[in-house]
Amino acid sequence: VHPDPDGKAVACAAPPQPEAGLPALHAPVRRTAAGTAYLQSAGVIIIAAPRTDLAGMAPFLEGFGPDLGFTEYLRDPDPLAPGALLCKAAGQICYASLGPRRTRNAAADRYFRNILDQGHGSVLEHASYSLLLYGVSRSMTMELIRHRHLSFSQVSQRYVGADILRFVERPEFQPDDELHRAFEARIDRCRSEYAALIESLRQDGPSAQAGGPIPRRTEQRKAVQQAARALLPNETEAPLVVSGNARAWRQVIALRTAPHAEPEIRAAMVRIWRVLAAAEPLLFGDFTLEEAPDGVPSLSTPHPKV
Ligand SMILES: Cc1cc2nc3c(=O)[nH]c(=O)nc-3n(C[C@H](O)[C@H](O)[C@H](O)COP(=O)(O)OP(=O)(O)OC[C@H]3O[C@@H](n4cnc5c(N)ncnc54)[C@H](O)[C@@H]3O)c2cc1C
Repeated sequence: VHPDPDGKAVACAAPPQPEAGLPALHAPVRRTAAGTAYLQSAGVIIIAAPRTDLAGMAPFLEGFGPDLGFTEYLRDPDPLAPGALLCKAAGQICYASLGPRRTRNAAADRYFRNILDQGHGSVLEHASYSLLLYGVSRSMTMELIRHRHLSFSQVSQRYVGADILRFVERPEFQPDDELHRAFEARIDRCRSEYAALIESLRQDGPSAQAGGPIPRRTEQRKAVQQAARALLPNETEAPLVVSGNARAWRQVIALRTAPHAEPEIRAAMVRIWRVLAAAEPLLFGDFTLEEAPDGVPSLSTPHPKV
């Protein structure tokens, strides 16, 4: 089973890059012969990340007097990704490691290895990343939202209807002709039953009921769609924006990419890791991609919870 279009090449593939800005991994949209839209992998787009500028620290550093040489902190010639720069500065302020004997940016990999080895994960909480996820199913996101240190905003099935309805094909169905055909037939059927139910609820639903006040258009649409969504399956796509700091993302990645984690969320979390590791290799680069018995790659790290 190779749910990820990149398959096992995931380990050696070039880092995911968007046309401009922050890393992303997109997922193609497919259609059945009848036109029902579906996806086979998670689309992952970083839409917000730290923007670190330490220049404002100058008066603070100068205030300790010239003997300590703290102002040199701002003249480190080696650039770091914004999240690593932020977390390293926060960690070094803890011990006032700001003078000439501090760990410089060129040795930041050693600095972060030490943070992970010591379990000083609070330093990683300063860097936060917001991701737009699509091509993920309702059942996958039901598992994702259990992680209370992440924040979520998800498409509402009460507000949006048939025009944005798409489905997600599970990893197990994709390589099996029979399961794949059954999936396509099922989502075609589901789409037409959903449209038919919306139509009959429109005719017989709240606006048509005698006696009560006539609901406004939005309220009427909500009343129809909140009832019609009852027939939508777990394999309905449920796009969402998820925000979390690097420490929280690391823990979720570790839990949900273990070999015994459910395959759809495992495949999606591997793609999330690839995008985050491309943006911040020092904060996420200690995970190793491994083969799992079911063919969906897993990840391991010596630092699963810091
Ligand atoms: C492979 C797998 C299978 C699963 N199967 C099931 C299942 O069958 N049924 C089911 O219901 N769930 C299941 N889950 C979900 C699981 O029980 C957790 O809800 C989920 O993994 C979130 O983990 P967490 O609470 O550690 O993380 P978060 O909610 O992100 O919290 C992060 C950390 O904060 C601390 N923390 C957060 N809240 C509290 C609190 N109230 N008190 C004390 N410390 C807190 C803990 O240290 C916690 O690890 C499964 C998860 C995995 C990975």
